[in-house]
Amino acid sequence: MSRKPRLILSKQALAANYQRLSSFSGTAECAASIKANAYGVGIDFAAPVLWEAGCRTFFVAYLDEAIALRRLVPDAVIYVFHGLTEQEFEIASAAHIRPVINTLGDACDPALAALKPALHVDTGMRRLGIPEYQHDQLIEVVSQCQPSLLMSHLASADEPERPDSEQQRTLFEMIRSSLGTVCPPSSLANTAGILLGASYHYDLVRPGIGLYGGSPNPDDPKGFEAVVTWHAQVIELQHVRAGDTIGYGGSYVAPRHLSIATIGLGYADGYLRALSGRGEVLVEGQRCPVIGRVSMDLITVDVSIVEDIKEGTWVEMMGPAVSLDTVAQKANTIGYECLTRLGDRLERVIV
Ligand SMILES: *Cc1c(COP(=O)(O)O)cnc(C)c1O
Repeated sequence: MSRKPRLILSKQALAANYQRLSSFSGTAECAASIKANAYGVGIDFAAPVLWEAGCRTFFVAYLDEAIALRRLVPDAVIYVFHGLTEQEFEIASAAHIRPVINTLGDACDPALAALKPALHVDTGMRRLGIPEYQHDQLIEVVSQCQPSLLMSHLASADEPERPDSEQQRTLFEMIRSSLGTVCPPSSLANTAGILLGASYHYDLVRPGIGLYGGSPNPDDPKGFEAVVTWHAQVIELQHVRAGDTIGYGGSYVAPRHLSIATIGLGYADGYLRALSGRGEVLVEGQRCPVIGRVSMDLITVDVSIVEDIKEGTWVEMMGPAVSLDTVAQKANTIGYECLTRLGDRLERVIV
């Protein structure tokens, strides 16, 4: 067994989160956003578990992600959010991969209809999708491209008190009624959108973060289970005296005698450098602060309160006790970034 930091990936937690999101979504089909290697947890792990749990439709960002996914879920419907270049059509068609049409430029290729594309309309995110000032051309686009799905994306669904989501939904409704009988099945909600309620669910929902155990709104966690438990090993224990400095730049000065543990993981593994002097880890059941700077492969933790600690002890960096959202808040970022930064070097153990 090596000293490398490891991720313990829970099939049961991922399946339970899928089922929870699916039950929140009523009669809408629950798809999965599995881009960026399933938010860092790994498509090899996530895709078969989601398929087994009943998921039949998947979204990725790029064609090569879709091709890798196709091997894992041969019969799934797979959409590519960023669309395809013309040179990619042939490969996509052979693997039954569906592009998302985001622009009028994307839409004008006559070969597109055969790929059963989705059509993305912008309703206020102003990032991807046909912008509102071109919506008068949607009827034409729909008749030409025969989309299998009409989709839009919410900008502020994680802040339910703001009026933005309702404005987007109203515009989405207007588009749907202007298309009338040729309106394709529709999709608006990500994880946070699902939690906004039934009027946001339409025919298909596309959660991501909730599947992987994150909360779209950390102030209001909806009890998704931790899919990722992240452990690292104590490589060395030291005693320091009052006034000793610890780590690069000597940024931490010990206020008194301390026991410190050096743990084998760092920012190269995705333990963000912003957690320097801010992170908290679980050592033998006790919460201990990260002191000094996070370095590439190591961090130092004040373990003075832990009685029974040895070199070789495993420490929880993230998991059931140190939640993804807590880590994210301490690093001044969001759970999405913490997950997608998880390093390639981490040992992955599926349970
Ligand atoms: C990533 C993504 C999702 C999933 O969002 P979560 O907030 O992770 O649930 C849904 N739709 C689109 C267009 C996305 O890019």
